[in-house]
Amino acid sequence: MHTIAIAGNPNCGKTSLFNNITGANYHVANYPGVTVEKKESKITHKGQEYNIVDLPGTYSLSPYSLEEVVARDYVVGEKPDVVVDVLDASNLERNLYMFVQFMELDVPVVMALNMMDVAKKRNISIDVKSLSQKLGVPIIETVARDNQGTSLLLDGIADFLATKRKDNNFRISYGQDIDTALDEMTPLVEKTNFLTDKYPARWVALKYLENDEQVHAQGALDVSTHKKLLDITDKLNKHLKSTLKITAENLIADYRYGFINSILKGVVFSEESSTNRLFWSDKIDMVLTHRLIGPLLMIAFLYGIYEFTFWASEYPVAWLDIVFQWLSGVIDVNLKDGLLKSLMISGIIDGVGGVLGFAPLILFMFFAIAIMEDSGYMARTAYMLDRVFRIFGLQGNSVVAYIVSGGIAGGCAVPGVMAARTIKGEKERLITILTAPFMPCGAKLPIYALIIAAFFDNNRSTIMLAITLISWLLALTVARVLGSFIIKEESSAFVMELPPYRMPTLKGLTIHAWERCWMYVRKAGTVILAISILLWVLMTFPALHDDDLKVFENKLTQVESKYSKVVILEANSDKEVVSEETIKFRKEINEIDNERAAAGLKHSVAGRVGQFFEPVSKYAGFDWKTNIALIGGIAAKEVVVSSLGTAYSMGEVDVEESSSLSESLVTKSGWTLANAFSMIIFILLYSPCFVTVVAIAKETGSWKWAGFTIVGYTLIAFIASVAVYQLMI
Ligand code: GDP
Ligand code: MG
Repeated sequence: MHTIAIAGNPNCGKTSLFNNITGANYHVANYPGVTVEKKESKITHKGQEYNIVDLPGTYSLSPYSLEEVVARDYVVGEKPDVVVDVLDASNLERNLYMFVQFMELDVPVVMALNMMDVAKKRNISIDVKSLSQKLGVPIIETVARDNQGTSLLLDGIADFLATKRKDNNFRISYGQDIDTALDEMTPLVEKTNFLTDKYPARWVALKYLENDEQVHAQGALDVSTHKKLLDITDKLNKHLKSTLKITAENLIADYRYGFINSILKGVVFSEESSTNRLFWSDKIDMVLTHRLIGPLLMIAFLYGIYEFTFWASEYPVAWLDIVFQWLSGVIDVNLKDGLLKSLMISGIIDGVGGVLGFAPLILFMFFAIAIMEDSGYMARTAYMLDRVFRIFGLQGNSVVAYIVSGGIAGGCAVPGVMAARTIKGEKERLITILTAPFMPCGAKLPIYALIIAAFFDNNRSTIMLAITLISWLLALTVARVLGSFIIKEESSAFVMELPPYRMPTLKGLTIHAWERCWMYVRKAGTVILAISILLWVLMTFPALHDDDLKVFENKLTQVESKYSKVVILEANSDKEVVSEETIKFRKEINEIDNERAAAGLKHSVAGRVGQFFEPVSKYAGFDWKTNIALIGGIAAKEVVVSSLGTAYSMGEVDVEESSSLSESLVTKSGWTLANAFSMIIFILLYSPCFVTVVAIAKETGSWKWAGFTIVGYTLIAFIASVAVYQLMI
């Protein structure tokens, strides 16, 4: 015998429905321990017996009232085979709030859309099929007062019970702050089996954030986990208070309503004007998500972000450059020539400094992105792009993954790949995971910025916008191609949380921007530092043989013999150089030094690897020094900038004459526009960084796809770069 529980808001027609089903021959009792009426009855429908239970009417499943406690305890404790959630069709938004909570509890739900007559009378039309698809549950329309739809409902229940049920995988994204906390808490709950005999792990975490007293009381029995969860909750609440001036509990409710709001968009059409708190958001959305104006505004905002970022970061980036050059100068003067000095200047300062120098750019970029996120606009972009993405076999949630990966510039593909978890369709999820790494992440951004500064200083924002759009276009193209190789499946419904618009606070923006910028800085000071040192070693050893060094010594002595003692003395002193002779002398000496450094680099392990690929890579315009940087970039994309810095500074000994890396690219590397474009395309397409590859392997559950992104994408990138380069030279 199957048990069917009937649940829903007060006055939605539960009892009427119950009476229709049972013929009103129910048995009244109280729920064990409490005096809330419990109606129960057994019926037979098409030869199958059912036990029907009428739950008390509640607005939510949070234990604010006795009814709510009873309803939740029953659903969790008695585990009915199916819960029929009765909804008032004329008031869907509020009624769906409880439905969402059932889904989060992973309760088996069939929806009875009651009061359809009232909805019709009020000119509310509902696209039931699409609603059912979006929510992932069967929906049966009923008019309980007139006993309409009752047997259809019972048939629907029978069908539902006949199919095998999987986890519903229902997941609302609650925005970055809360999602991060949930992702930290959920594994903790799972690991310690904390209340998991009763509830899903993520739900327990969510209830801690919602300050659910009943769950707190149950959880207090396991002191250690209980305390850890409370600590995370406290930390999050403090953070939310200072950034958004809101508690986690309220923010969660906001996102639930945002989720519901977006579900109802395009499903419920009503002539009545909305008077709820989402009213203004809807008004704003009429413009911002308009079919034609919306996308245009989106591109305009993007351009605005780049203008702002380049404008605001121009001087700070230049100042940092001066600071690092000054630091190099200090070390140059105070340390003797040798390995230590080379490590300090070429390895550490030019490597890590090159990456750190872009921190202001990253900071301002994140500030601009924080405005889009905190205001609620970001969610709309995904909503708008859903339609476009479907053409390419993806969907709106893929947009989210793209944006997290750096779709606007400045994200990271690792959380981006994980964000694809919200996508239900296996195929869409896989393709999203595989294409998100094409986005201009925070580590690629400095490379693009470097090339832009060197070659396109006059239209920085336009080029950045072009790079971004090309990234999206190529990602979508690859998605389409991959899609045709992977077995087709029906595309899943897209549901995006659309929280109400909110005025961002300066404090909140600053904190959000700083948090992410700090991660960039910390990575530069740790991982990138380590890789830079390793690369410096590879670029320094094995050192030149004594015989080879002799050749350069001899050349130096030859030059010195041409000049007078006075000139040599002056050239070696710290004094301002005046005589033309001295300048000429210095130049000649420098040239030899550069030659020696270049010969040394060529002789090193990295140099040999770079040269090994040069016969092929030259078709894309990459010389062996660039090859070193690109190979290093597979470890981490920041390394491209840092190792270009090292490679070009190793051939440059006199720090006073040193120039910034972007100047070096123009003057010393012999790069042309063709090289620049070829490089941009290659960086855009080739292998994701190592951490991303690991994330891809983890999320797809196989190294096959991860390996494909390393080898396959590098091949694609190379072919594209060769095409670009050959067309341009
Ligand atoms: P409960 O509080 O959820 O148990 O709701 P009830 O079954 O007591 O119904 C509340 C009121 O709504 C009663 O007056 C019902 O007659 C009325 N009602 C129930 N279903 C419908 C329906 O589908 N259409 C209309 N117009 N009224 C309904
Ligand atoms: Mg009732």
